[in-house]
Amino acid sequence: MKKEIPVTKNDKVWVVIEDLTHDGRGVGKVDYYPIFIENAIPGEEVEVRVLKTTKKFAYGKVLQWKVKSENRVEDVESDWIRTGIAPLHHMTYDAQLQFKQNQVEKVIHRIGGFDSVEVKATKGMEVPSKYRNKAQIPVRKLNDRLEFGFFRRNSHDLVPIEDFYIQEPEIDAALIAIKPILERFNVKPYDEKNQTGNLKNIVIRKGHYTNQLMIVLVTKKKKIFKIGEICKAIVEEVPNVSSMIQSIHTENNNVILGKEFVRLYGDEFIEDELLGNTYQISAKSFYQVNTKQAECLYQEAIDRAELKKTDVVIDAYCGIGTIGLSLADKVSKVYGVEVVSDAIEDAKKNAEINHIENVEFEVGKAEYVFDKWLEEEMKPNVIIVDPPRKGLSESFIEASAKMNPEKIVYISCDPATFARDLKLYADLGYQPDYVQPIDMFPQTSHIECVTVLKK
Ligand code: SAH
Repeated sequence: MKKEIPVTKNDKVWVVIEDLTHDGRGVGKVDYYPIFIENAIPGEEVEVRVLKTTKKFAYGKVLQWKVKSENRVEDVESDWIRTGIAPLHHMTYDAQLQFKQNQVEKVIHRIGGFDSVEVKATKGMEVPSKYRNKAQIPVRKLNDRLEFGFFRRNSHDLVPIEDFYIQEPEIDAALIAIKPILERFNVKPYDEKNQTGNLKNIVIRKGHYTNQLMIVLVTKKKKIFKIGEICKAIVEEVPNVSSMIQSIHTENNNVILGKEFVRLYGDEFIEDELLGNTYQISAKSFYQVNTKQAECLYQEAIDRAELKKTDVVIDAYCGIGTIGLSLADKVSKVYGVEVVSDAIEDAKKNAEINHIENVEFEVGKAEYVFDKWLEEEMKPNVIIVDPPRKGLSESFIEASAKMNPEKIVYISCDPATFARDLKLYADLGYQPDYVQPIDMFPQTSHIECVTVLKK
């Protein structure tokens, strides 16, 4: 028998919020049918309007509160929730940290099946705002003007924004200064619908400790009219710009950067510092967006690895080499592997500028390079993995376990794939000790986790 959906679009219903989804929406139920509601916190009683229904759930919007949570922050800026810039900022920071710990516990128990693995309290920031060292800002035409902002969640409707709340303030200030320059030179913002215009996105990176700025203009076409004068004006009006890059993005997709890069001004990279080392970061390379918390994360991984002077360490998914280079002085040898060749170029340069000689970096997919290393009988004592959200492949997990390391330090930015992979490691005899969530992304629902697996 087909189950009836108990609500239809535009219905108004009262619900009590019971839970939060993994992306921070409140969950209220009508006859066991869940409604996902932005800006609603467990314990609250709210009247919602149903926005959209599907077979399994609906989306709703709060119309009014009968009961408000003590975890609620007043003065909620709805654009930050609506666009997903800061979808948790209606919750106190303590409640956010607790939410993240609970989320990790849930998946570790449910997906991983590890009932007795402890998930510690989330390590948070002292000041949980203005932390992002990188901004990726869409540029569009709105009411006949060039606008910067953010898309409303699940849409391509631009919401103009000047205060991005979680970005380092120098980045917001740079955006505010750049807009009138682009207008003055009549730069055409990209129009997705008609496939016209030129400037699609602006990406800004800031060295957290060095204050250097990299400005990347992502354009549809190769030519930007009067680009020399535009660069000159930007460098004059925005402090500390040390690199300007154009990225040419001809395709019509949601990827931020294009494939072709042209240096417009200054260096091809900016520099930043992490745990005392200096790093050069190019436009294409991955770099942790929260420098302070990246240091906290790396320190956690290094401490938990209990490194010895004789250890051979593999830094898998190494990006520009930051983890391996941070611990190289504590061990005998570090091998890094990473799929983006520009990042490996950066990693090699970074070893050089920090005078670190006991490291080797290799370009390639970690799963293939590990098979090769296994064949060559490489015997690491410690393997550190820090994969993207999709986690590790089964073949990688098998190859890494066959190398028989004493410890595998797993750093993850997605608790669900993390829990899935921990289970596979457990089947091969590697058990996690405890899980430490670290808040790299305050005000958002993202969570970073670290654990150590031992035989
Ligand atoms: N450890 C680094 C980077 C972590 S992000 C740091 O802390 O900065 C994950 C990295 O994995 C990215 O640099 C990405 O380019 C890389 N990557 C993604 N898939 C990969 C694969 N199959 N093999 C190797 N590296 C991969």
